[in-house]
Amino acid sequence: MWKKIRVTFLLLVLLVVAVNAWRDQNQNWDRPIVVLLHPVNADGQATTEQYIQHLTTEAFASSQQFLQDSSTLYRGKKVYFIYQLGHELKQLPPKIPENAGVLQVMLWSLKFRYYAWQQHTSQDGRPTVTLYLNYYDPEQTTALKHSTALEKGRIAMVNLFASGQQAAQNNIVLTHELLHAFGATDKYELASGQPIYPSGYANPEQEPRYPQHQAEIMGGYIALSATTSKMPESLAQVTLNKPTAIEVGWTK
Ligand SMILES: [Zn+2]
Repeated sequence: MWKKIRVTFLLLVLLVVAVNAWRDQNQNWDRPIVVLLHPVNADGQATTEQYIQHLTTEAFASSQQFLQDSSTLYRGKKVYFIYQLGHELKQLPPKIPENAGVLQVMLWSLKFRYYAWQQHTSQDGRPTVTLYLNYYDPEQTTALKHSTALEKGRIAMVNLFASGQQAAQNNIVLTHELLHAFGATDKYELASGQPIYPSGYANPEQEPRYPQHQAEIMGGYIALSATTSKMPESLAQVTLNKPTAIEVGWTK
């Protein structure tokens, strides 16, 4: 009797896990996508705090517009992206281990999911995806560490600059990570940062091929030659190409 109850309970847990995983990997794009943004003062600076206090969803308008325009292009009808600013979190997300092995990364992803569960409150509602925005004062930090997203669990940790002047580039990073959470893969070489030809190029058919004038959102950078590239200044210099649209499920 007890054995049966235990087995039934375990099967139910497995079923819930499987359904959640399936749902996370098969987004229904006909429904509005709620993107919840939680700012975090990652360097503890007063300047960063001040930036966070004055932050509004207006700062993310170009990301929202980019995704609505791109989805319309592939689906023929737009996906409604609703960006909501959640409350500031006092606890930082767990740090990504550097040069980590597979096990360490798995452990970190569990910690991150636990953090997300811990920080979630009833006033957050049920967002489609939650982004933790780690803000750094550009006067104190010149280079940001890599941001990371988990498709299963629909959470991402995004490192950004606490500066209005950096808002346009912040939106590129944020959009890139958001697309990871929906299954898009990187289209640049991890070691060099160079976009991969052809999928990471905005215009792979262009003649001559270099310099490219735009970046593909998952390619990240604008290829100036086969070995050099630069970061786009804003999403106006970025496209979302078909390989990425296929990965997130906007087209076949
Ligand atoms: Zn990436």
